Amino acid sequence: MFTATTVSWDRVRSDLTLRNELFIDGAWVRGSGEELTLVSPRDGQELTRIASASVEDVDRAVASARSAFDSGVWSGLAPRDRGQRLIAFAQHIADHAEELALTITLEMGKPLRQAYETELRAVVNSFRWYGEAIDKVLDETPSTAPDSLALVTREPAGVVGAVVPWNFPLTMAAWKLAPALAAGNSVVLKPDEHTSASALRLAELAFEAGIPAGVFNVVPGFGAVAGQALGLHPDVDVITFTGSTAVGRKFLEYAAQSNGKRVWPELGGKTASLVLDDADFVKAVEASAHGCFYNQGQMCTAASRLLVPRHRLDEALEIAGRIAALQRPADPLDLDAPMGSLVSSQHLDRVAGFVERAAASGSDLIAGGSEANAVIEGGSYFAPVVVNAARESEIARQEVFGPVLSVIAFDSLDEAIEIANETEFGLAATLWTTDLKNAHLVSRRLRAGIVWVNCFEEGDMTVPFGGVKSSGFGRDKSLHAIDKFTDLKTTWIDLS
Ligand code: NAP
Ligand code: MG
Repeated sequence: MFTATTVSWDRVRSDLTLRNELFIDGAWVRGSGEELTLVSPRDGQELTRIASASVEDVDRAVASARSAFDSGVWSGLAPRDRGQRLIAFAQHIADHAEELALTITLEMGKPLRQAYETELRAVVNSFRWYGEAIDKVLDETPSTAPDSLALVTREPAGVVGAVVPWNFPLTMAAWKLAPALAAGNSVVLKPDEHTSASALRLAELAFEAGIPAGVFNVVPGFGAVAGQALGLHPDVDVITFTGSTAVGRKFLEYAAQSNGKRVWPELGGKTASLVLDDADFVKAVEASAHGCFYNQGQMCTAASRLLVPRHRLDEALEIAGRIAALQRPADPLDLDAPMGSLVSSQHLDRVAGFVERAAASGSDLIAGGSEANAVIEGGSYFAPVVVNAARESEIARQEVFGPVLSVIAFDSLDEAIEIANETEFGLAATLWTTDLKNAHLVSRRLRAGIVWVNCFEEGDMTVPFGGVKSSGFGRDKSLHAIDKFTDLKTTWIDLS
């Protein structure tokens, strides 16, 4: 399983039907909002049209989630029974992983092999892991005085609104849905407009696998309509969000303007990869470049800033340039494609704009760029770019969300740490050193939710994922994520 070369993709493609209605209360419902056209960035061709969710449709989805929650059909199950259903759901996703992977590739342009072997594996793993974990999460009886008994029990929060981006569309959805559902909540998912079809199919598979009607609803639609309606809804208890810092802050405002719901923002990043003098230099630079270009650079953790000692700057530019030249965009349906297309032509313009402004302001570029658009006519292809960047430049500070690596020179360890910490973000940082003491001491000084030492993108379901500063404060994955979707109840019993 999850070996792309063993799949008959032509057959998967000819059998593929994209869902294009809302999924509410276990049924397909025609949206009453504006039409949303899904365009494939692979070739600019229309995939399908969806009548999107209006404010009233979101209302209906929330009402369905609330009524399912109050009925106890899911929230009232023993954790073990919910867990078993999530494990069955994971298996059902695995059985349909090919069509989901193909859908993601057509929707947002990532290479099919990565969609199937990496993303779908992560999605299955997430549901399976929380399914297996949930009946091992125990309540507490604190050691109070002998004449009383205190119970600390964990209760599902109620209705969870999940709003996710397009870059790892089903992984992000799974990281929210799996702990929220495992804990007994009902969920309304607002996928990104580009990746609505894969989310809709996921909900249908959940229903087929025995997740009751109303427990998992999907309202594809526009952020400013459906996303906002969820954020402002008085009957949504929790918002879990992954996306940009600007929109994450809007959700905090929506909460303040409505019912003070809990908001868990997981936001942007500008990962610094800090290579110290004693590091395995070639390995560090190569891994950082790959870590910047993976998923066409559209990763919140992309290693988009490479920090090297000044006397090794030229060498770093040369190695990173070599990796950039190898990572040529190609048809994402080609199983050998190292890179696919960016998510949309608008996003292509945004990424190209950063590079054009860097060039105009005098930065040296090893390009790359939009010339790769010849891959497929109408597609949104962009070849990796390496920039010799000044630390204060726009390209070195802002999140580009494309395959653009800024290489920045430092003169001392203190300066390197200062540069690593000087953007508004604090999601992840990478440190390359062979000195054990520095590995610990420098890691402590890096203001980031995740620090990788001599590795990049290590991850496991047992380990939390999330940032600090403007990268937000939510944590996905691990048992800690269950805290986001549960309330602790204290019950005192008088024994005197
Ligand atoms: P985005 O614009 O913030 O969109 C994310 C979601 O919010 C989409 O579903 C979007 O809907 C919705 N939305 C947009 N405007 C809204 C509004 N006014 N009110 C309510 N909802 C709204 O993010 P993006 O640019 O598409 O995605 C990339 C960002 O996600 C990057 O900043 C990246 O770093 C971040 N990210 C973070 C993590 C993490 O775990 N920290 C992981 C992956 C990505 P529409 O589709 O309709 O616009
Ligand atoms: Mg958007």
